[in-house]
Amino acid sequence: MPANGRFAPSPSGPLHFGSLVAALASYCQAKFRQGRWLVRIEDVDTPRVVESAGDQILRDLEAFGFDWDGPVLYQSDQFEHYRYYLEKLLAQGDAYACECSRRSLRRQGVSSGPLGQIYPGNCRRKKLDPNGHSIRLDTATAATIEFHDQVYGRCELNLPAAVGDFVLKRADNIYAYHLAVVVDDQLQGIDEVVRGADLLENTCLHIWLQQKLGFATPRYLHIPLVDNAQGVKLSKQTGASPIDHRNASRQLVAALSHLGQSPEVGLHQGNPDEILRWAIANWDQTSIPVLRPSSAENFED
Ligand code: GLU
Repeated sequence: MPANGRFAPSPSGPLHFGSLVAALASYCQAKFRQGRWLVRIEDVDTPRVVESAGDQILRDLEAFGFDWDGPVLYQSDQFEHYRYYLEKLLAQGDAYACECSRRSLRRQGVSSGPLGQIYPGNCRRKKLDPNGHSIRLDTATAATIEFHDQVYGRCELNLPAAVGDFVLKRADNIYAYHLAVVVDDQLQGIDEVVRGADLLENTCLHIWLQQKLGFATPRYLHIPLVDNAQGVKLSKQTGASPIDHRNASRQLVAALSHLGQSPEVGLHQGNPDEILRWAIANWDQTSIPVLRPSSAENFED
């Protein structure tokens, strides 16, 4: 069965080895199943966007031999869609306006979980004007959301206890990653999401949102994160070095090894196109190792 996949980097800096691993895994998984592989630049959080980082990411992907299907989607072109679905949630009574700032919640002693402050629903019944306020999704009746991840197996999260009502749009009018990713995956016809295991728990938030919007839930496959020598996840925030075109072949082969694949001897001597062809033909999803992420990604901060 063909499975449409995607790679969705945030243009907050250049690609690093961890992002190369995510690109490679999503590419092989989609192409192995004769699906389309789409690229989406996740520039929804405009203050965090680094100028020209999106173009650099696309040039890097090309230099590493990746060939995406269709036009690149930019989240900054999608605001009308996010607005439409946010209004639908408000009209359904599933979302509401909130006047609490993170600081005021801290003052009230609201506790925090792995994904940030656990919002207790203070504004749920206040019927505040959505303009000028943040908008949250009501999770009071969500209970435990569970799903089957193709690498990590059964995953679950009790939304009211672990997260509470999460933000869909900030008071400064920035749409949240959670809303953008769920809407885009639906509108782009993505039926299999492959991404880093730091987003494993966030998937439960996405599933609750999909249910409220009447969207089907795609299949999920989370891949083990790449740590640096200090055991910290490689990321732009931890200063991971950008991937370097000059030894693209070696890095592709190293990324295959990280994904538990068994690159044949001498594969790194081929050019990136040859390596990707080999990777698709020999792709074995069942060999991807399970490494638990040490800390989850918090998209509210
Ligand atoms: N934009 C996110 C990142 O660069 C990935 C989100 C996703 O794949 O759902 O980490």
